[in-house]
Amino acid sequence: MDKLSLEKIRSEFPILSEIIYNKPLVYFDNGATTQKPQCVLDRINYGYKHLNANIHRGVHFLSQRATEAHENARKAVCDFLGADKREEIVFTRGTTEAINLVAFTFGEAFCSEGDEVVVSVMEHHSNIVPWQMLCERKKMTLRVIPMSEKGELDLDAYKNMLNEHTRIVAVTHVSNVLGTVNPVKELIEIAHVHNIPVLIDGAQAVPHIKVNVKELDADFYVFSGHKIYAPTGIGALYAKEKWLNALPPYQGGGEMIAAVTFEKTTYNELPFKFEAGTPDYIGSTALAEALRYVQEIGIENIAAYEHELTVYATERLMEIENMRIIGQADKKSAVVSFLVGNIHPYDIGMLLDRLGIAVRTGHHCAQPLCDSLQIPGTVRASFAFYNTKEEIDVFIQALKRVVGMLL
Ligand code: PMP
Repeated sequence: MDKLSLEKIRSEFPILSEIIYNKPLVYFDNGATTQKPQCVLDRINYGYKHLNANIHRGVHFLSQRATEAHENARKAVCDFLGADKREEIVFTRGTTEAINLVAFTFGEAFCSEGDEVVVSVMEHHSNIVPWQMLCERKKMTLRVIPMSEKGELDLDAYKNMLNEHTRIVAVTHVSNVLGTVNPVKELIEIAHVHNIPVLIDGAQAVPHIKVNVKELDADFYVFSGHKIYAPTGIGALYAKEKWLNALPPYQGGGEMIAAVTFEKTTYNELPFKFEAGTPDYIGSTALAEALRYVQEIGIENIAAYEHELTVYATERLMEIENMRIIGQADKKSAVVSFLVGNIHPYDIGMLLDRLGIAVRTGHHCAQPLCDSLQIPGTVRASFAFYNTKEEIDVFIQALKRVVGMLL
C-alpha cells in the first residue's frame, strides 16, 4: 500500500480521526470489530432514505426495491465467497448465529447418542458452546484437535480422531488469538474421506485472505459482517445446497413458510426456510457495499499489506525484554498476541488505552485455548489495511513506557 492510497483509505474512515484522551486514536482492535468506511455509512443512510419497506411479498414499489436490494446483496455474498448459488447463502446476525443454526439443525437431523463432534483447541467460544449444547442434548462427545507449541493444529491427532461416530468437524479458518491460518482445505479433504461434513468459522479469515468455498469444498462456511467493515447484526452462512435441503428449519415465523394452517405448516424454498422474521435488509445491503469496497482495494493487496504490518509489529515487539509472542505459526494472519514477563495483560491494555491505543486483552472468548497454554490471556493487537507502520511505532513507544511503569 503506498502512502498516497493509504492516506486516501484512512480519510474514508471517519472514526480514525477521533481524538482519545487528547491523543490521536490508534485502533488495533480490528479482530473484535472493524471500523466502517464512509461508503458503508452512506449505504445505511441511503437504505433508510430510499428503500425502507418490508421485503418479499410486498406489491408496492418500495417493497420491491428493498427486496431487490436485499437479494442483490445475497448475490454479492455468494460471489464474494465463490459459491455457486445464491440459495446457498443464508443471512444471519453473524458468525455466532450461523454456527448455532448449523449445530442445532444438523444435530436434529443427523446426530444421536454416542456420536461425536470434532472441534479444535483454538476455537472461539462461539464454535465450542453450540456444539457442547448439542452434545449435552443428544448425549454425544466433543473431541478436540490439539496443537503444537507454535500454535499449529496437530494433523496426525486429527486424522486419528475421525471415526465412524464422527458426525461433523467444526474448525476455525484463522485463530482470533494466535493468528494461525489453519490448513482448512486439507482438514476438509481428510474429513471428506470419511464422508464427514466440515463447518469452517471464517470470522477472522474473510477480512484478510481470499476465500473460495468451492475450492475449499467446505460444507458450511460462516462469517460476520462487522469484522469486514460492514455493520453489526448481519452475517452469513454458506452451506451446500444438499445440506440446506436436508436440514430442518431453525426458527419458525414469517418469511420461512410456504403455507400455514393450524394443522400443518409447509416451509419456504431455500434459503428463506432459514430466515424467519423480517431480515436485516438494511444491514445486508450495507454488507454488500462493504464487500464491494474490500474487493475494490483487492483482498490480495490487503493480505500483502497486512502481512507487512504483522511482520513489522512482531519485529518491533521483540525489542522489548521478556516479550513472549503467543502464536508463532508459519502461516499467520493480521494478529499479534503477546505477554510481557509476568505483567497481567489487563494492566498493559488499560495503560495503553490512556495513551490512545486500543488493543484487546483477556482470553478473547477462547478460554480453553488460554487454559491449554496456561496463560491468563494475552494482549492482542489486530490490524486492518487502514493501519500504518507509524501507528505501530507509536504503539511500541507507548508499550515500552507502560512496561517500564509496570515492571
Ligand atoms: N469466531 C471467531 C474466530 C471470532 O473471532 C469471533 C468474534 N470474535 C466469532 C467467531 C464470533 O463472531 P460474532 O460475535 O460476530 O458472532
